[in-house]
Amino acid sequence: MAERMIPEMSLDEKEQLKLERLQSTLNRAYKNVPFHRSRFEDMGILPQDIVSLANLSQLPFMDRSHLGTHYPYGLFAVPLRDIVRIHTAPGTGANPSISGYTKADLLIWKNLVARSYEAAGVTDMDIIQIHLPPGLANWGRDYKDGGETLGAGVIPNSTLSLSKTLMVLRDYKTTTLVTTPAFATTLTTHLFDTQCHPSELNLKRIILVGEPVEKKQIRNLSDRLYVDVWQNYGLSEIPGPAIAHECTGHNGLHINDDHILPEIVDPATGRPLSPGQKGELVLTTLSARAFPLIRFRTGDTASILSDPCNCSCCLQKIQWDKERTDGMMIISGIKVGLDRVRQSLQSALKLDRPDCSIKRILQGGTDILGVSLVMDDRFFSDEIKDLEKLMAQTEATLAEQTGVTVKISLIQKRN
Ligand SMILES: [Zn+2]
Repeated sequence: MAERMIPEMSLDEKEQLKLERLQSTLNRAYKNVPFHRSRFEDMGILPQDIVSLANLSQLPFMDRSHLGTHYPYGLFAVPLRDIVRIHTAPGTGANPSISGYTKADLLIWKNLVARSYEAAGVTDMDIIQIHLPPGLANWGRDYKDGGETLGAGVIPNSTLSLSKTLMVLRDYKTTTLVTTPAFATTLTTHLFDTQCHPSELNLKRIILVGEPVEKKQIRNLSDRLYVDVWQNYGLSEIPGPAIAHECTGHNGLHINDDHILPEIVDPATGRPLSPGQKGELVLTTLSARAFPLIRFRTGDTASILSDPCNCSCCLQKIQWDKERTDGMMIISGIKVGLDRVRQSLQSALKLDRPDCSIKRILQGGTDILGVSLVMDDRFFSDEIKDLEKLMAQTEATLAEQTGVTVKISLIQKRN
């Protein structure tokens, strides 16, 4: 029988392991990363002063702005010669976001992704098909590696049309589909449009990634396709996917807290919240060598579930919520800052405060950023010769800055 990926240890053993890993993470970060060292010094704390997991709350938060400030290699805790993979993603600021991995880091990620598959009942008998948008290309690799680690057959991410993706799903006898909620819904609609019946498929489960999914949508997918639907939580920029996964209980997500420590804090005050209270999810990596994160504010909303799970897994559980605490919108797994979109629109159109609304829209099976822009007399000034060209250029500029496809629709002024 294959080795089990989900750890089996008592809660006391796990707490001890977490503390040991936290202390060694803090020591390494202090020693090797000037950013972390200076923050310890500012607080008048040494790594050895953190003697319990609760002490962690004495340390300051990290957020996405720090990733931009120390771009590209300023937060790496190992020499570049020890890095074997560098992931990059569009990021939420001016710079791409970056994350580095040593060989040991990659091995841990493979095992963590394999855990999420195992929790969803995937075995070496399964065929996994991965279909993720370009913004989640790094996750595509991780889900491939995790599936191979488990011994399953993996069909890696590729850019096929909707029809060919469905053909692969049917003809290759895919049992497990890893995709976004938007694509799962589009594929289901296409399947019924083309008179293909779910009984022609071997599909047993869909693993949804990128954003929290409402129960109604899950029910809809499972009822129409006769599959189990599982959610995974991850961060698209850093450090990776499958930070937390659902188990057979389908009641919250088990977070891999032996490798990544969760805290829930009040987004306004930063004060730690108790189990059950909803707040911002803050993560600290416990085993990452190359790119340690200490109290990283995710902007995601969650609460810690304290009741033990009936699956008997020792990993802590969280409830992941759709709300965000940071004014970002998730589009195909990429975080897009709404203020930044408005600013970019303003400078691309050279207009002070253009009247617009921003929402997520579905196009060709992928979520894209839809901007409804109210027609303005200034669009017809002498300087703007060609409105269509201006909108196309603005879409291209916004897409370049956010990393997602953008569609601007001009609408009439509301009275
Ligand atoms: Zn469970």
